[in-house]
Amino acid sequence: MARKILGYIELIWTCDSCGTKNPGAIKSCTSCGAPQPLGVRFEQVDPNTFNFIKDEALIRMARSGPDKHCPYCGTRNLADALTCVQCGGDLTVGATSRPSGDVIEPYPLVGAQGKPQPAGETQPMATRAPMPRKVSLIMILVLLAICAFGIFLLISMRRTDAINATVASTQWERAVIVESYQLVSESDWAANIPADATISSCSLEYRYDSEEPTENSEEICGTPYTVDTGTGVGQVVQDCYYRVYEDYCRYEALDWTVVDTLRLNGTDLNAVWPAANLTDTQRVGQATETYTIWFSAGSRDYNLRTTDYSLYQQAYPGSEWELEVNQLGAVTSARPAD
Ligand SMILES: [Zn+2]
Ligand SMILES: [Zn+2]
Repeated sequence: MARKILGYIELIWTCDSCGTKNPGAIKSCTSCGAPQPLGVRFEQVDPNTFNFIKDEALIRMARSGPDKHCPYCGTRNLADALTCVQCGGDLTVGATSRPSGDVIEPYPLVGAQGKPQPAGETQPMATRAPMPRKVSLIMILVLLAICAFGIFLLISMRRTDAINATVASTQWERAVIVESYQLVSESDWAANIPADATISSCSLEYRYDSEEPTENSEEICGTPYTVDTGTGVGQVVQDCYYRVYEDYCRYEALDWTVVDTLRLNGTDLNAVWPAANLTDTQRVGQATETYTIWFSAGSRDYNLRTTDYSLYQQAYPGSEWELEVNQLGAVTSARPAD
């Protein structure tokens, strides 16, 4: 969050001794002459009557840093003063700097374009109501039930029974992907587009937030507020960040792309790969194979899906197999009986 300085305004302070309100830059009470005490807090002048300070000397003073109090008489002196304006005492040793940087109070200000600024980050966060105890108890019980069910599932999947079964039927399926090197339409941020691509259209789209302004960024600022500079002059600031927009483009480029998936299937034990008739600009991509064996064991049927072709080739219809079946009825391993 970058802090933007809008200007400087005069503050006021209240005399501890007589209660008089004095201008921030005046260092001794205008009524009783008492020095401004170290602990006094600057306040903001009525927001309706304030104006940004035009006096360059006053602005320079505010920028030079917090004032310091004379260790001998307590009078407030400028940050770069070497001797006290009141008593002439040495300020290079033992002088106490005023606190600075405190936010004085937010004030309503009309934005530069003449409309109110969005509150942005300075708005208070919505507080969440505490959850009733009964609801949280129910949630804990539900979570426990889900955990118990998960454990039950895990145990059911782990525990297996040995079952003798015969092969009822089989099926194989093999697939091959055909890829072609051709013009492909894609879209991406301009910086990520390959150099040989042909860009068809671009538009500015929001990409990220930045602390600093960049090319094509939109400034988003919160409500202005006043910060104590420790000099009796307040600094009016605004916290801003930048929404950065970048070119997002549609383009065409040569790339490998899937143009076809060739499939073959059958119910016999000799699976074959689909034959691809490739052109000069095509290649074979990923190949997949799936084999399913259906078993019957008395009144129950089971099936096994596998990619193990050598196991599948032993699944003659009617042959005897030994299965490991878990509590959920899934076959976890299978082998032909000796
Ligand atoms: Zn006074
Ligand atoms: Zn002094």
